[in-house]
Amino acid sequence: MNNTPEIAQLGAEVLRQPAQAIDNFNSPQFQTLISNMQQLMEQGNGVGIAAPQIGESWQVIIIASRPTARYPKAPEMPATLMVNPQFEILDASLIKDWEGCLSVPGIRALVPRYRKIKVSYQNQQGQACEMVLDDFPARVFQHEFDHLNGMVYLDRVETNTDIVAESEFFKRIAA
Ligand code: ZN
Repeated sequence: MNNTPEIAQLGAEVLRQPAQAIDNFNSPQFQTLISNMQQLMEQGNGVGIAAPQIGESWQVIIIASRPTARYPKAPEMPATLMVNPQFEILDASLIKDWEGCLSVPGIRALVPRYRKIKVSYQNQQGQACEMVLDDFPARVFQHEFDHLNGMVYLDRVETNTDIVAESEFFKRIAA
C-alpha cells in the first residue's frame, strides 16, 4: 500500500475495479489504510470516502456526514468506518439530490438514491455491525458503496442536464 496516497481522479483504473474484501483486521497495512483515508477525507472536506479513492482496491468506506465547506447543510453523525459493507433497501423511494465526489472535482450532479436502507458491515476490529440510515447519510453510504463496485455517481445521473459546475452549484443552488 502507498505511503503518500493522493485522491484518485476520474479516469484512474482503480475507480473502475471491484474492490477486494478485507479478511485480516490486524495487519499494519489495514491500520495505515484507515488513517490515510481519514486524513484525506478531512483534508478534502468530504463527508465520506472509499478506499479505491486513495488508490487502494479494498472494501473499506468511511461515512461521516457533517457540515463542511463542501456540504454546509449536511446533518451531523459520528464518523463510521465500514469494512466489507452490504445493504438492503428499507424504503425503495428514489430521491434525487445533489452529490459531489473528491474524485470528480469541480462538478455536482443530481443523483437518485434509495431513501432508507439497512447497512451491515464489520467494524475496525472485524465485529459484525448493523445500522439503519436514511436521507443524506443513506445517500453518502450508497455513493461510497458504488466506489467498491467500480462505479461513480455520474453513472447514476438520469440526464446530462442534472450535471453542473461546482461554481454554479454554490452560486445558484446551495446559496
Ligand atoms: Zn465519491
